[in-house]
Amino acid sequence: NWARTFRWQPSRTYVPETDADVANLVRDARRARAVVRVVGARHSPSDIAATPDADAMLGRPGFAVRMHRMANIVHIDRARLTVTAQAGITLEALSVALDRAGLALENLGSIAEQTVAGSMATGTHGAGSRFGVLSSTALEIVLITGTGERRVLRRDDPDPDAFRAALCSLGCLGIVVQVTLRVVPAFQLAVVEGELDFATMAQQLPSLLAQSDHTRLWWMPPTDRVLAQYARRITPPAADASLPPPPTRPRPGWVRGSLIPHHLYEASLYAATWMPRLLAPLDPYAAIAHADAHSIPRGRSFEMFKLDCLFKQYVTEWCVPLADAARVLTALRDAIRAAGPAVAGAVHAPIEIRSVAADDALLSPATASSTPAATAAPFVYIGIITYRPYGADAPGRARYWALYEAILRQRGGRPHWAKAFPLGPAELARLYPETWATFQRVRASCDPDNVFTNAYVRRHL
Ligand SMILES: Cc1cc2nc3c(=O)[nH]c(=O)nc-3n(C[C@H](O)[C@H](O)[C@H](O)COP(=O)(O)OP(=O)(O)OC[C@H]3O[C@@H](n4cnc5c(N)ncnc54)[C@H](O)[C@@H]3O)c2cc1C
Repeated sequence: NWARTFRWQPSRTYVPETDADVANLVRDARRARAVVRVVGARHSPSDIAATPDADAMLGRPGFAVRMHRMANIVHIDRARLTVTAQAGITLEALSVALDRAGLALENLGSIAEQTVAGSMATGTHGAGSRFGVLSSTALEIVLITGTGERRVLRRDDPDPDAFRAALCSLGCLGIVVQVTLRVVPAFQLAVVEGELDFATMAQQLPSLLAQSDHTRLWWMPPTDRVLAQYARRITPPAADASLPPPPTRPRPGWVRGSLIPHHLYEASLYAATWMPRLLAPLDPYAAIAHADAHSIPRGRSFEMFKLDCLFKQYVTEWCVPLADAARVLTALRDAIRAAGPAVAGAVHAPIEIRSVAADDALLSPATASSTPAATAAPFVYIGIITYRPYGADAPGRARYWALYEAILRQRGGRPHWAKAFPLGPAELARLYPETWATFQRVRASCDPDNVFTNAYVRRHL
């Protein structure tokens, strides 16, 4: 994968160009009793997209499917504000094409290299209490099931269970070949940044997160410093009007754009894997690396949402109801302080705090379950990162992860599906009491012979 934390070697790789190619490869796989995994942009920091070789799967060969030749825009409907695209298109390519048509995706996460289907499969989200995960904008999903059947699933289907399962499918229902998403008129983001302390953040979390359309908070443990970024949407005054062009994003010079964040910081983190006390003075580098990502106050939405995620990293992120988030953060702060030097060497980056609106995907960590998503309270994602400077493992990472997972687990947090986590099916089923069984029923009907499986799927589902 992108972070080089997992490797795999499929027995065979398919690169389909048409829906018929996809159906044929599924039939090939059934004949060969093979398992199939689609690989998107390989950005998931786990083995979710891994296609095991024959040995690992107890004798079943593993077929990988790459979708980069099915990456075209099919249709943009400006009147209805929809886009239909093939599943392998990246969010970046989709955003650029939409921008040319005066449109935009409603929200994005920190990067746009992912494929549209890969992002939807794991419940990829951005920031903003009024905005759901990317797949919450889906209107139609076309997939080839484990029997080679082409199924068109729509939000307004009389029985929407299959559609709701496909909104966060973990790649287990079939190979998605095409999606139709709701889009919005192109907009810009005006960004203001500020700093606050941990106590203020914990006391005022709901209002801080609601203070702008897209609020991102970065808390820098073990300190009490919190950087806040508030982004406000600026939309055209009328449907056919356009906004004045944003200022051109100045390219940071080599020192701020490359030397400090990508070379000096990585080299210093590498040195700190031997001598963790070197980490303390590195805080400003982390701040600069983050600050430089938003070096203009206003810009096109899809450019402003993105962050420079620096270099290879371990990352995990769990989701809790807004009402529990401050308590979880306080418990994390206490635990990080208590652990002291045992984890300090692994706390490389600020802890990122983002809210998302509840959605109706059966297995989205932000699912509203049976409550209508529109009336349910938002959720909060809390993410931690330990970099892998030049591929090296930082001391204390296992302890940092264990500490984080214990707290989130104890408080009923739900892990981001793309990121590695230690929960098995029984515990996960308890976290999705109203939707787990329905997802499994849809999965059995779409993939009765378990074609779309791998070690990740067997471990968690
Ligand atoms: C630097 C970085 C920043 C990130 N930022 C964010 C963020 O801000 N918010 C967030 O929520 N996540 C974030 N992520 C996680 C990322 O969005 C998810 O891992 C996403 O699923 C990756 O998409 P991908 O195209 O790389 O899919 P992959 O990782 O290749 O695959 C993910 C899953 O999708 C399935 N899949 C892919 N294509 C298809 C298809 N056509 N049909 C059926 N199944 C398919 C795969 O089988 C697999 O199960 C980030 C990751 C990185 C590395």
